[in-house]
Amino acid sequence: MVPFLDLKAQYRQIKPDVDAAVLRTIESAHYVLGPEVAAFENRFADYCGVDHCLAVNSGTSALHLALLAAGIGPGDEVITVSMTFVATTAAVLYSGAKPVFVDVDPVTWTMDPALIEAAITPRTKAILPVHLHGLMADMDSIMSIAWRHGLVVIEDAAQAHGAEYKGRRAGSIGDLGCFSFYPGKNLGAYGEGGAVVTNQPDLARKVALLRDWGQETKYNHVAAGYNYRMDGIQGAVLNVKMNHIEAWTERRRAVALDYDRRLAKLSMTRPQPPSHSRHVYHVYALCLPRRDETSSALQRAGIAVGIHYPVPVHLQKAYAGLGYGSGDFPITEHLARQFLSLPIYPELQPEQVAEVVSQLEKAQLVEAS
Ligand SMILES: *Cc1c(COP(=O)(O)O)cnc(C)c1O
Repeated sequence: MVPFLDLKAQYRQIKPDVDAAVLRTIESAHYVLGPEVAAFENRFADYCGVDHCLAVNSGTSALHLALLAAGIGPGDEVITVSMTFVATTAAVLYSGAKPVFVDVDPVTWTMDPALIEAAITPRTKAILPVHLHGLMADMDSIMSIAWRHGLVVIEDAAQAHGAEYKGRRAGSIGDLGCFSFYPGKNLGAYGEGGAVVTNQPDLARKVALLRDWGQETKYNHVAAGYNYRMDGIQGAVLNVKMNHIEAWTERRRAVALDYDRRLAKLSMTRPQPPSHSRHVYHVYALCLPRRDETSSALQRAGIAVGIHYPVPVHLQKAYAGLGYGSGDFPITEHLARQFLSLPIYPELQPEQVAEVVSQLEKAQLVEAS
């Protein structure tokens, strides 16, 4: 039996510190924002290499506020990808703007910069790349297109805590970066959580206002805001986890390397991280021609695998109104049909990696015969 993720194993490792931090927060009665959240914001800003971090109540809220702070709203278009979790698209729609999709690059599985300019119209205001599975999109190309056309860049870094592109961290290259601390993410709270990071003080100030009812001072509402604040307890948990995030990330990378080596003899397509990037492996994905059969065989053998995500956003019923259809994004659709996510988390043991690979080999042999 190999689970897809083991959050209990991680809790056992940090239990005394987490328990103490949570109790301290309850006793302090700082239940919403407060000193634990403020301390976490400082540490996470440092970790990302940015000046400002604003903690919010989910990654979706982070995206929504980043868009609003950048002045995006009804009548605007935001270029993004369909190869993502629906939250990326949903946040654009919450802002009132229209999501415009482009396909992904077949090598990195992230936004293909060569397709962006053809999607730009007079209404385009922003580019919203997604650092899918923990690998950063081609930010140099995206930033230069944005600069030429006067567009804002918002990074969806919900899966990419600590990922790097040419030595710069996820969230620090675009105008704004958005993170999720959903429990299963690389840095997970014990409930919902998210953050917006930026180097621009005016954007930071807007996000801070909007997450807390647009209050400049108590009951003085200068903007129509939201209740998107982070809980004190989540800040306390995340502060403890900040002590471990680098070690955990290195463990994920070691597990991925172990998979890479063991899978080298099987010919499978995987996203290829460019040499200048630090992939943080929120997901370890590979393409299998008979994905569904292999996936069932692995599940039967006790290996918990996943698909992130089986139906691209542009083919989801909820977003049919955007007017896209089958065949619009061939790479995205091809990957959605073929790729499988293997178990990966810092506590995954080498024997478990070996077990996953041996079951995968067995399933492949059965199919080939
Ligand atoms: C998880 C995720 C989100 C949303 O984050 P929540 O904290 O669940 O709201 C947004 N984008 C991507 C790519 C994600 O993986």
